[in-house]
Amino acid sequence: RFSKVPKGPEDAILGVTVAYNNDTNPNKINLGVGAYRDDLGLPFVLSAVREAEYRILDRKPHMEYLPVAGSAMFIDKAIRLAYGTNAFVDSGCVAAVQTLSGTGACRMAGVLMDRFLDGGSRDSKPLVLLPNPSWANHRPIFLDAGCDVDSYAYYDPATKSLDFDGCIKSLSDAPAGSVVLLHACAHNPTGVDPSLEQWREISAVLKAKGHLPLFDMAYQGFTSGDMDTDAASLRLFVEDGHRIVLAQSFSKNFGLYGQRVGCLSVLTDSEEETSAINSQLKIIARPMYSNPPIAGVRLVEEILGDAELEKSWRSEMRDMALRIISMRATLKNNLSELGSVHNWDHIMNQHGMFCFSGLTKEQVDDLRERHSVYLTANGRISMAGVTSKNAQYLAEAVHDVTK
Ligand code: PMP
Repeated sequence: RFSKVPKGPEDAILGVTVAYNNDTNPNKINLGVGAYRDDLGLPFVLSAVREAEYRILDRKPHMEYLPVAGSAMFIDKAIRLAYGTNAFVDSGCVAAVQTLSGTGACRMAGVLMDRFLDGGSRDSKPLVLLPNPSWANHRPIFLDAGCDVDSYAYYDPATKSLDFDGCIKSLSDAPAGSVVLLHACAHNPTGVDPSLEQWREISAVLKAKGHLPLFDMAYQGFTSGDMDTDAASLRLFVEDGHRIVLAQSFSKNFGLYGQRVGCLSVLTDSEEETSAINSQLKIIARPMYSNPPIAGVRLVEEILGDAELEKSWRSEMRDMALRIISMRATLKNNLSELGSVHNWDHIMNQHGMFCFSGLTKEQVDDLRERHSVYLTANGRISMAGVTSKNAQYLAEAVHDVTK
């Protein structure tokens, strides 16, 4: 029955790790994977997470099903972390569901919009505009959810920073009432975030055009090291009176990658609207996975429910962000000490987990073949893979392929 199934292409990002694993060079470096690594290059479990795990285990917790919408306590903590103290949160004007991490939150958002955006009475599918470029999974997520997908100008390869005028222009030219996906901070893959002033203007265009802001917040904390500072874009949009759809991931800032902890929330105008959207989110979730996993959200609840653990988590979260920033400085300095004639300022100017290096596909191939340094074909460096030990080797390799 399945003999005619054509073999599909491998995922480009995950493929980088497969190739890296097969390489026997002891100096090899994996800069493909979007997961934090410590200064020894190892996966990192935050001590607040470990402590929470022990405390939970000590209580010998049950392993029963969560409700379809997930844990109410987790959802409350998640939306407060993003929105802060907020009239919507306090007045019950946030519909929300626990999701299979940020990916699941985006997917649920896509299905909700496909079914109900503007009363579900649209002649055509909802149009989701993604920044160009965006996380490679965004496009298939929203297409699979039934939405149409297009893009808006975002990154300028010439300046390796935001194409602000282009961004404003393409958002203004887009069909009114589109959905605009915005990376709340630490944009993946470019590391380029708008300034607060620029966010204000983006917000004004969305308002004028009746576009719906869909925030993807997968790296809260990774731009500045501070959870509230990194939520400034989202909170500014709230102040400007937008109704917002928000996809949150706890993979990076709690280091809970494989636990699949996330939340989708929607700001509403009334408790009735909240309750209607909540009912539909459950109707979407039930036939797809019945109910979300329990182990990861327990860790977040434990940490955010205990002042001491929360303090320790915030400080370790900050340390992760600061280690990445210090590796940016080291890599840039090493390149200038090696006499690179190129301008590497963007390594410092970009934020979060990634540096959009500007390396060409050929240079990326060269790095892999001659130096066993692995990154995605678009030249994205996962800064979390850079360590005190490999930063010099990496700079030499980058210098070599860009001479
Ligand atoms: N959004 C963006 C922009 C991401 O980079 C990622 C992770 N690479 C996600 C969402 C979702 O990740 P997860 O499903 O692990 O939370």
